[in-house]
Amino acid sequence: MLGLYLHIPFCSSICNYCNFNRGLFDEGLKSRYVDALEREILGSSLRGRTADTIFFGGGTPSLLEPEEIGRLITVSRATFAMPATAEVTLETNPETSSRERMERFRAAGVNRISFGVQSFREPELKRLGRLHTADRAVRAVDEARAGGIDNVSLDLMMWLPQQTRDDWRQSVETLVAVGPEHASLYLLELYPNSPLKEEMARSGWSLAPDEDAAGMYLWSLERLDAAGYRQYEISNVARPGTTSNTGRMASGSASAAVRTRRSPACGRGMSRVPRSTFRGSRQARARRLSDGR
Ligand code: SF4
Repeated sequence: MLGLYLHIPFCSSICNYCNFNRGLFDEGLKSRYVDALEREILGSSLRGRTADTIFFGGGTPSLLEPEEIGRLITVSRATFAMPATAEVTLETNPETSSRERMERFRAAGVNRISFGVQSFREPELKRLGRLHTADRAVRAVDEARAGGIDNVSLDLMMWLPQQTRDDWRQSVETLVAVGPEHASLYLLELYPNSPLKEEMARSGWSLAPDEDAAGMYLWSLERLDAAGYRQYEISNVARPGTTSNTGRMASGSASAAVRTRRSPACGRGMSRVPRSTFRGSRQARARRLSDGR
């Protein structure tokens, strides 16, 4: 069984901590990229194999027009054997959402939205250079629901500059109140020479001690468990019955059982390496913290 990962490497602005494969949005480049991605899928050497998942990751895939996402879903379905119930996820930045766009993404074949929220606290969002506010993120989830999407995931990041345990608790409590079907919790990973690292040095921002990061991670798993979520991977929790196929597929670093049961993801586009690769380092780090290492 394959899972398709389609990388859409365009963003409206570049966040100061980001080392993903991405660049600034350009309309003409985007159109050529979608055409090239379509050709690449149609020419896949894995044609005819069964795939039960499409994951549009980025970058900011929600910057594409719903019709473009629809074209890529159509060629994927024409190339691979995909059940009608295949999970089709679109990573979405909250500021790009509207009810009308969500309805069009739904009509194009998207049935799951993964919002990159990262924090529900304004100072943290500002420090990270994100374009949305906490209120905008909450509204985006409402728009997705109103647009017919009944499977929503939220990403949060912990161990942010200046973030305390209480700050982290506030974000997790807001997530619980918003009530997505699925959530991913990641530790911030500061790469050398990142603008955020330089900003931290300039502004005197610091990270909480390692023990606090471990405490944040463990507390959030307990809190989410109490709220009805079950942890099924190092960084992923879901309401029973709504576990993400994509999450299970992409988290081979966290689950040998899943990795041996399923084939690796089939990546297409500029980054053929699934996000699990870079997320894997966060997951490994979270595992070390949870193990006390
Ligand atoms: S929106 Fe995501 S991919 Fe784009 S720059 Fe920010 S963190 Fe990176």
